[in-house]
Amino acid sequence: MDPVIYMDNNATTKVDPAVVEEMLPYFEQWYGNPSSMHSFGGRVAKKIQQARERIAALLGCQPDEILFTSGGTESDNTAIHGTLAAYPRKRKIITTRVEHPAILSPCRHLEQHGYEIYELSVDRQGRLSLDELAEVLDDNTALVTIMYANNETGVIFPIEGIGALCRARGVPFHTDAAQAVGKIPLNLKDSTIDMLSLSGHKLHAPKGIGVLYIRRGVRLVPFILGGHQEAGRRGGTENVPGIIGLGKAAELAGAYMEDENTRVRALRDRLEAKILATCPDTIVNGDRQNRLPNTLNVSFEYVEGESILMMLNQYGICASSGSACTSGSLEPSHVMRAMGVPFTAAHGSVRFSLSRFNTQQEVDFVGEKIGPIIHRLRQLSPFVKTA
Ligand SMILES: *Cc1c(COP(=O)(O)O)cnc(C)c1O
Repeated sequence: MDPVIYMDNNATTKVDPAVVEEMLPYFEQWYGNPSSMHSFGGRVAKKIQQARERIAALLGCQPDEILFTSGGTESDNTAIHGTLAAYPRKRKIITTRVEHPAILSPCRHLEQHGYEIYELSVDRQGRLSLDELAEVLDDNTALVTIMYANNETGVIFPIEGIGALCRARGVPFHTDAAQAVGKIPLNLKDSTIDMLSLSGHKLHAPKGIGVLYIRRGVRLVPFILGGHQEAGRRGGTENVPGIIGLGKAAELAGAYMEDENTRVRALRDRLEAKILATCPDTIVNGDRQNRLPNTLNVSFEYVEGESILMMLNQYGICASSGSACTSGSLEPSHVMRAMGVPFTAAHGSVRFSLSRFNTQQEVDFVGEKIGPIIHRLRQLSPFVKTA
């Protein structure tokens, strides 16, 4: 068995060896600049075009609707700032309370600069209400940005319904799909999504590469100015190996989509069942009916998530409490707070996120260890009910 049992795939994923192999020649052998006039550079430009086509095939869109960025964070910032610049008279953004910091931070920054930011609430299962969205959509709204699937709970939002409401009001709709792409099938051609962000390192490509899908005809002012790369939509010499790796990862994601939704889902369900059977006072966070197939977020009452992670870590098991960006502080995550998860449960929340590289042997190992860990921690816990 691998010395590490990696169940933190919503934080980042292993680069698939086939992705590495695809990238390697473009460091030392084919290192040309894709913008060069010579055919040595032209060869690289062709390979970038192939990557664009592979990603378009996974998303069900046109290759020229793919804009390469430095990752999910840049894609999100580009969608927000690029749209506001395209609609300078509109001053409002609608988003949700459970977005990734790559959306929440730029929105809160804009709020300090006079924009109105409306954050939709979620219920105890992490679901949002289309009625609330319909109520707050108005002619002053420049952009609606709502994540496809939540990184902490895996809850999938009703994206097409959201997009339909936006379209009826003529408001552009962006979705941060960093957690959805590669895990659930998408078909952007027949969708109401105008812009979509994805991040390479969430789907077995490297860190530092991402995509912003921009539907043909959607207005967006470039965010990073420089050379004429990406059809003038983003300056800067392309991250060639990253782009090529992401193209290969997209092709593999399409091929493994079935596996993700059968084998990986079954492994997640097996882990969930084992945890619920061996750990009393444990709840699953998030709508179990509309959830990514790889994600399991559980709250163990009366124990600290951080203590659980440390004990799992001693067995080489990697999981997460809250999102990677908020861990290190003892505040319960903003997602748990927005869902109204009670204090004692929010503190004991742990996220297991699987991938196609996980095995049943690993799931059973974790399933065996977790019960005794929780039992021991509860014996030490100041929160435990005095029976
Ligand atoms: C990881 C992630 C991001 C950020 O992507 P980076 O490529 O790390 O910048 C944004 N949104 C969501 C939902 C994510 O999971």
